[in-house]
Amino acid sequence: MLLPQNLLLVDQRESLILAPYAMHSCDSMGRQHPETPHTYRGPFQRDRDRILHSSAYRRLSGKMQVFTGEMGDYHRTRLTHTQEVATIARTIGRCLQLNEDLIEALALMHDIGHPPYGHAGEDVLNECASEIGGFSHNQFALTIVRELEFRYRSVPGLNLTFECLQGQTHRIEKNNSTKPLLEVQLVDAADSVTYDAHDTDDALKLGLVTLDEMSENALIADIIRHVRENYAGLSPDLMRQAVVHRLLERQVTDLLVHTGRKLDELSFPNSQAARESDFKIGPSPEFSEQKTELEKFLYERVYRHPRLMEVRKRAQNRLRQMFHGFIEHPERFPKKYQLRADKIGIRRMAIEYLAGMTDHFCEQLFAKHFAKKK
Ligand code: MG
Repeated sequence: MLLPQNLLLVDQRESLILAPYAMHSCDSMGRQHPETPHTYRGPFQRDRDRILHSSAYRRLSGKMQVFTGEMGDYHRTRLTHTQEVATIARTIGRCLQLNEDLIEALALMHDIGHPPYGHAGEDVLNECASEIGGFSHNQFALTIVRELEFRYRSVPGLNLTFECLQGQTHRIEKNNSTKPLLEVQLVDAADSVTYDAHDTDDALKLGLVTLDEMSENALIADIIRHVRENYAGLSPDLMRQAVVHRLLERQVTDLLVHTGRKLDELSFPNSQAARESDFKIGPSPEFSEQKTELEKFLYERVYRHPRLMEVRKRAQNRLRQMFHGFIEHPERFPKKYQLRADKIGIRRMAIEYLAGMTDHFCEQLFAKHFAKKK
């Protein structure tokens, strides 16, 4: 295809806007199954599009982040969390002149392996899989993009670039000899910025904690003071929004300023030098302490809240019962999963089957096969 002359192609564009320490598409190690380069989409753009069009990605809309559907419809789902991470990571990545396409692909992929019911679901699947090597959402994300998604006749999975896959691998093997690229580190940091802000927002909106209670935390108290000084007479809803907005802004600004200064100081000549150094993208040491305090507060007062613990317990019992029930009645598995069992064993297949479900589908199936008839 002959392209118009005024089109800026990927390598040209990246050479103009990316810093030397960014991961440039032209330096990609490629894919396990080599492909002809696309005329106007770079390799990481293609990764992002493949993830965006995958069924595992779409199913994130039916998976809980922290709070379940039965608690209302205001709070984040796993999908909206993912989109928030992607947008925050891209904002920071753009300012730091990192590769936005790779950042977005990594962000959209980072939670794709989450089972139904968030970490509560993950814990119980890990328990059910204790004799076959356990279960982790990070590992399952790799299984999804390497084996389970079906897009091409000739190759399994999404055939993502090695850089994208390594971004996920490093979450599993912490002592991996290949250290994470700056883009990977940024997505991890943006994940933390995102959930600290939106879990605060959701917890306040759901009434699990009040703003007064949250002001026991020094960072939130400081933010409330700032908001009150600048905007008098806000309604409780607007006050919550202003506090959360400021919490997000302060985290992003700290991360950006601290990282930007360090990168300027270190002036890495390329992405390889940056990933091999001891430098890590993250908040400044002072702000990091404040974030840790806030996370401790959220853990004790929100994630362990009796209303959540109750939901968590019910969800876990449901999943546990389904795992054992399906193993006893393998004929209940859909045909394609029965075929997968020949390859990986029935237990691992059952784990994958359950892990792929949305919260709602899991509940429906539970009601169909396992709920006691009244
Ligand atoms: Mg996340």
